[in-house]
Amino acid sequence: MKLKFPLHFQILLALVAGILFGIFFPHHVIYISWMGDVFIRALKMIIIPLVLSSIITGVTSIGNAENLGRLGLKTFAYYTVTSLLAILTGLFFVNVLKPGVGADLGLVKEVNNLQMLNDSFGQILIKIIPTNIFQAFAENSMLSVIFFAILFGFFITRVKDKSKKILTEFFEGLFDVMMKLTFFIIGFAPFGVFGIVARQVSESGNIIELAKSMSIYMLAVMLALGVHGIITLPLITRYIGKVNPLKHFKSVTTPLLTAWSTSSSSATLPLTMQAVEENGGVSNKISSFTLPLGATVNMNGTALYECIAAIFIAQAYGIDLSFGQQVIVVFTALLASVGAAGIPMAGLVMITVILSAVGLPLEGVGLILSVDRILDMFRTAINVWGDTCGAVIIAKSEGEKLKV
Ligand code: ASP
Repeated sequence: MKLKFPLHFQILLALVAGILFGIFFPHHVIYISWMGDVFIRALKMIIIPLVLSSIITGVTSIGNAENLGRLGLKTFAYYTVTSLLAILTGLFFVNVLKPGVGADLGLVKEVNNLQMLNDSFGQILIKIIPTNIFQAFAENSMLSVIFFAILFGFFITRVKDKSKKILTEFFEGLFDVMMKLTFFIIGFAPFGVFGIVARQVSESGNIIELAKSMSIYMLAVMLALGVHGIITLPLITRYIGKVNPLKHFKSVTTPLLTAWSTSSSSATLPLTMQAVEENGGVSNKISSFTLPLGATVNMNGTALYECIAAIFIAQAYGIDLSFGQQVIVVFTALLASVGAAGIPMAGLVMITVILSAVGLPLEGVGLILSVDRILDMFRTAINVWGDTCGAVIIAKSEGEKLKV
């Protein structure tokens, strides 16, 4: 029998080892910090193709489903509204708890010359349109890449059948490969975490302060996830869907626990569909449309996490984001959650989208990397919870007789 130590335990172990190494051998950190650099470089390597293929596939599946008319529209509205509510909840908690404010985490403070930070809101909007899409790829201009991907995906659904089929299948294939590649890279996360944490601890003169900031950051994410999952979604299910949220919850506990333990909406999908259909009584027509789409496009937990993490990183760099920039964060967090694949730690990769959109250093990812895998379990459970609530609400609104 092959004994396998789950990735999240490996990362937890690496986290503890990194902290101890940073405390006891600060002068030797130089010999191991390269592991962190290698890991961050590998993450950066996959961003553009992953985001591009994920968004194009998402948009084409929504666009192709337009034939489903009313159902497509309802699903789209549900995804947008709940994701935005989730992000606003995250925005609230990160602004109230301020996990990164005033903490000396040993981060470089020279961020003044970052272009986006100096741009006005209007200029940021104009610059979303790339003058050269290849330059946008090369410079990691995520908003431009997303803008292009959305348009490209949309127009794939508007061309003649032969071209549509070739391109849809091509991008689905590309997305599959990128998911596998991401999975592969994430497998090295324990080494990355070890290298990065050891360096952070050795550089941030004050380990207690680092631990305090990280704990408040985690608390902000957990509170926001809690409010969204326990209050917002059940209220919507109750009053808009006219479905009993408690009964519905009981019918989907298996997929929720699976989501929590695998940190993958996509891996959980078969169980989600089975629970929603068999225990909830939702028709296959609705579940087979809303749930596979929801597993990659609708991620409430990831959306609010993106917002909190990006603002936390800004705070840790000593940057006060203006109102306009926070609006950009909200907007990009929504896109990042749509672009995130339903696999472990995909949300971490997508943080770079927001960081580059508001002009923060991509290295900021290193700060949140160490605890990402733990938060991932909870946000994935909320992602799947959001998908199932959507499925029953939409089924009920279509006049289906449910068991919940
Ligand atoms: N693991 C999440 C999911 O599969 C995505 C993320 O990393 O936020 O739903």
